[in-house]
Amino acid sequence: MRVGILAVQGAFIEHERVLRRLGADAVEIRQRRDFADVDGLILPGGESTAQALLLKKLELFDDVRSAVLDGLPVLATCAGLILLARKLDRDDAVHLGTLPVTVRRNAYGRQLGSFETRSSVGDIADFPLVFIRAPFVTETGPGVDVLASVGGRTVGVRYENQIGLAFHPEMTDDVRVHEMFIRLIRGRLGA
Ligand code: GLN
Repeated sequence: MRVGILAVQGAFIEHERVLRRLGADAVEIRQRRDFADVDGLILPGGESTAQALLLKKLELFDDVRSAVLDGLPVLATCAGLILLARKLDRDDAVHLGTLPVTVRRNAYGRQLGSFETRSSVGDIADFPLVFIRAPFVTETGPGVDVLASVGGRTVGVRYENQIGLAFHPEMTDDVRVHEMFIRLIRGRLGA
C-alpha cells in the first residue's frame, strides 16, 4: 500500500513516521509525477493559503481534486481540512472544495491558539486531540458524519472517502486514527 503525503509545506514528516510505524509505504508528494500511483493521500497541517498556491504552481491542484472526487481516500488535518472544505466561513476563498462542509479558519482565536484535550473520534474512544491555530467546522452538508466534537464544535468529519480533522493525530503517540485511515484504503483496494 502506497500512501502519498503532500510534502510541499507544513507538518508532513510526522505523518510519514506514523505511516511507517504502521508498515505502509509513505510517498512524499512534491511534484506532479509523485502523485501518479498512490492508494491514499494525506493533506497535512501547515498554512492552507501557502499550500493551495503551491498545489497550483506545481500543477498538482487539478490532479488532486479529481482523484479525491473519484474516490481516492484522503486524510486531511487542520490546514488540509481547510483545503478540502467546500466553503470557508467569513472568507471567500475556496480551495479543493470537495468536502461538503463550511470551515472557519483560526476559529479559536488568539487566546486559545493551541490546546490539547481528549475525545472520541468515530469508534475510537478517548483520543488525544492536539489543536494548533485550528479551524472548526461550522456547517455540515448531507451525508457528512461527525467523527469528533469538542465543546459543541465539530472538529472531525467523514464524507465518503474523505476524513477531515481540525486536530493533529500525527503529533501524538496514538496511531489509531491513521489505522482507521489505512482500513479505509484497504476497503477501497479490496472493492
Ligand atoms: N491556521 C492554519 C491555516 O489557516 C492551519 C493551522 C494548522 O494547520 N495547524 O491554514
